[in-house]
Amino acid sequence: MRFRVGQGWDLHRCAPSGPLTLGGLAVEADFHLVGHSDADVLLHAIIDAMLGAAGLGDIGMSFPDTDAAYKGAPSGELLKKTADDVARRGWSVLNVDATVILQNPRLGELKGRMGREIARILGIDAACVSVKAKTAEGLGPVGKGEAVEAQAVCLLGARGEN
Ligand SMILES: [Zn+2]
Repeated sequence: MRFRVGQGWDLHRCAPSGPLTLGGLAVEADFHLVGHSDADVLLHAIIDAMLGAAGLGDIGMSFPDTDAAYKGAPSGELLKKTADDVARRGWSVLNVDATVILQNPRLGELKGRMGREIARILGIDAACVSVKAKTAEGLGPVGKGEAVEAQAVCLLGARGEN
């Protein structure tokens, strides 16, 4: 077995009125995130972690924001495409661990639902996807509720040698 780890980071700006698209779910909130696609910051960080692990560049290369096809695109579809690309190269997603940093709302049990939704899209066991959440302690743009940030790591495995 050979292994590759990848890391991803993303941040999107907040704008008034919900719902908030996060982790593939529509979350009740008084803001949404701004972006070319549906701006799902958590899925974007995970996509970048997967692409990084597989040596496939980054989300901007796979899904350019100059491409009208991805305007308003559900990030779940982008995640599925990424999973297919990674699988075509012989890699399996062994686990994903992600953290969302946002001042509000408190995600509570939504974290588990997001993890299960991500696992469903990736076609892996729900136990292999972890979603955590933190506030920014009121500090910086994330703490002031002007942006939401996400970080993720992904471990890929493949049979055989390098
Ligand atoms: Zn993004």
